[in-house]
Amino acid sequence: MIIAIDGPAASGKGTLGKRLAAHYHFRHLDTGVIYRAVAKALLDAGADPADEERAIAAALELDPEKFGHPLLKTRPIGEAASVVSTFPKVREALLTFQRQFASEPPGAVLDGRDIGTVICPHADVKIFVEADPVVRARRRTLEARARGEEADEAVVLADILKRDERDRNRPVAPLKAAADAHVLDNSHLDIEAGLKAAIAIVEAARLRPDRA
Ligand code: C5P
Repeated sequence: MIIAIDGPAASGKGTLGKRLAAHYHFRHLDTGVIYRAVAKALLDAGADPADEERAIAAALELDPEKFGHPLLKTRPIGEAASVVSTFPKVREALLTFQRQFASEPPGAVLDGRDIGTVICPHADVKIFVEADPVVRARRRTLEARARGEEADEAVVLADILKRDERDRNRPVAPLKAAADAHVLDNSHLDIEAGLKAAIAIVEAARLRPDRA
């Protein structure tokens, strides 16, 4: 079974993906870290994230062993990731890895921006997670502070809105809900309530007659 979770920055899709995968004993891939790893490779080399040729080269040389690097989650890397991810050839270079991950047993949960639309258009379940931008900024600010980083909520909100705008309006694989996605607004749900709602969506999909 493949569960595709998409949604804007800091919508809670990563936490939901991790928890859903644990619940079903599936593997989990946060696809944002892939674009973040490409961005980090460029920044580490002193290159401009808008340098398309270097971004493509970094995507082709990507080392999944580095996906756990703690700096990947920082704000400048998220911003640079949303720049490198606009290049169609960067996305193309990362496609096979994601599809391969999705296809391996016993099942997988992938979260990102284009999982239900491009990477796994035939996913068994698609969930599009939304949350009010102000709520998202608040959560992201608290997360950053918990990691010991300084975070100004207004700056975080501006950054989230800028990234959403770029992700929604790029011509290739823009952020959008697939036509057959279930929209889950978690603005007023805590992690457990969001997980419960997502499990209900998955269970309903498992009972669909076309899966019998
Ligand atoms: O989800 P996260 O904030 O880690 O993603 C970082 C950036 O990577 C996003 O702003 C987006 O531009 C890009 N991304 C993407 N497609 C995905 C996952 C992330 O374009 N499937």
